[in-house]
Amino acid sequence: MKNSFLLLLLFVSFYSCKKEEVATTQEVKIIQPELRFGYKIDDYKVIQDTIRKGESFGVILDRHHVYYPKINKIASSIKEVFDVRRVRAGKPYTILASKDSTEKAQVFIYKHDKINATIIDFKDSVIVAKPFQKKIKTVLKSVKGVINSSLSVSMDSLHLSPNLTYTIADIYAWTLDFYKLQKGDSFKFMYEEKFINDTVFAGYGDVKSAVFNHNGTNLYAFRFVADSISGIPEYYDENGNMLRSQFLKSPIKFQYRISSRYNLKRRIAHYGYRVKAHRGTDFAARNGTPIMATANGTVTESTRKRGNGNYVAVRHNAIYTTKYLHMSKRKVKVGDFVKQGDVIGYVGNTGSSSGNHVCYRFWKNGREVDPLSPKTKLPEAEPLKKSIKPAYLAFIAPLKYELENETLPVLDQEIIKNTD
Ligand SMILES: [Zn+2]
Repeated sequence: MKNSFLLLLLFVSFYSCKKEEVATTQEVKIIQPELRFGYKIDDYKVIQDTIRKGESFGVILDRHHVYYPKINKIASSIKEVFDVRRVRAGKPYTILASKDSTEKAQVFIYKHDKINATIIDFKDSVIVAKPFQKKIKTVLKSVKGVINSSLSVSMDSLHLSPNLTYTIADIYAWTLDFYKLQKGDSFKFMYEEKFINDTVFAGYGDVKSAVFNHNGTNLYAFRFVADSISGIPEYYDENGNMLRSQFLKSPIKFQYRISSRYNLKRRIAHYGYRVKAHRGTDFAARNGTPIMATANGTVTESTRKRGNGNYVAVRHNAIYTTKYLHMSKRKVKVGDFVKQGDVIGYVGNTGSSSGNHVCYRFWKNGREVDPLSPKTKLPEAEPLKKSIKPAYLAFIAPLKYELENETLPVLDQEIIKNTD
C-alpha cells in the first residue's frame, strides 16, 4: 500500500514537471529566417516523405523532375560520402524543390535516424554531399521507484521505455538476480535523455549511476572510464569492483521465473516421485525467448537428444562448461566462438520437459554444480587498479551522495551537458 502510494507520488511529480518543461520551451521565439538543415526554408517547396519498398534514389529524383543522366552524375560525384544504392525503404527524407512551376528537386536530405542526415545538394553545377547532425541537448535526469512485482512493471508505471529497463538489466546482469527481486526493493538511477532542438525526445544516453536496494542492501553501479586509452566505460560498485564478471546470473534477460532450482533431492511426478537429482536451474520463459551464453566460450555441442531435446554446450575454459537444454531452436554450431550475452538458441519445450523453459547446467572442474549457490565460488569481478582507485572514489563521491539523498523533484535538477 505504502509502495503503491510512493509510486503514485513519483508518477505525479514526474508528470507535473514534464508539463513545466513544455511550458518553458514554448517561450522560445523563432527569429526569422527559419533555417532547416542550413537552408532558408521559405525559399523552397519542402517535400517530406518516406522511401517506399523498391524505390531507388533515381526513382525519387525522377518524380521530382531531375532526370538521367543528371541522376548518374549526382550519384557518382558523391559516392565517397554517400552511396545512393544504400537508401533503405522506411527511411524518411526531405526534398527541397524550386518554388517555381518546374518544382525541380535541388536538395535531397536522407535521414539516417532522428539525429543524423546526409544532405545532397545539386542545385548548382557543383554537387555536394555532406553529413548533418541535429543539435542535441543532453539532459541528466533521475528516477526512483519501488518494486511491486517486477522491474519492467515499475519502469512502465514511471513512463520509462523498455530500452532503459534493458540498459538497467544489462548493468546488473552480473550482480542481481532479477527473479529474486522482492516487493519493496527500490531503485534510483541517474540517466541521460537526449532532445533534438530542445523538445523532441531522441532517446536515452548513458546511465551514469544507479543504486538498487535489494533486501536491504544497496547495490551501486557507477559508469567510469578507467582505461583512458581504450576509452571503454565500465560499471563499478562503490569499492571499485567491476560489475561485469565472467558469468551472467541468468541465460535469459530478466523476464523469466526460476521454476526449479538445482536440487539433488528433487522428487517429481514425471519420475514417479522417486528422488531424481536436478542438477540444473530451470528458467521458465515464453517460447522463443532468446537464450544467451552466460560467458565467452566455444560451442562444443549443438544437437538434439531424447532427454535434453535441442541443446547447446559451451566450454568457457579448462574449468567451466555450461549447457542449455530444451531449446525450441538452436542458433549456433559446434566450433562457433560465442561471447557473453550472444544468443545461442531460443526457449522451447523439447526433450523431457513439461513446459517452456531452459534447463541451465553448470560444470566446474568436471562436476555439475549450482552456479547460484554462494558455495560455488565463481570468478570474482575485476577490481580497479590501485593507482586509479583514489580518482575513482573522488569521482563517485558526489554521485553516491545524489543517489542516497532526497533531492529536488525529478526534473528540477536538470543539468545541460552540451548543446551541440
Ligand atoms: Zn532442469
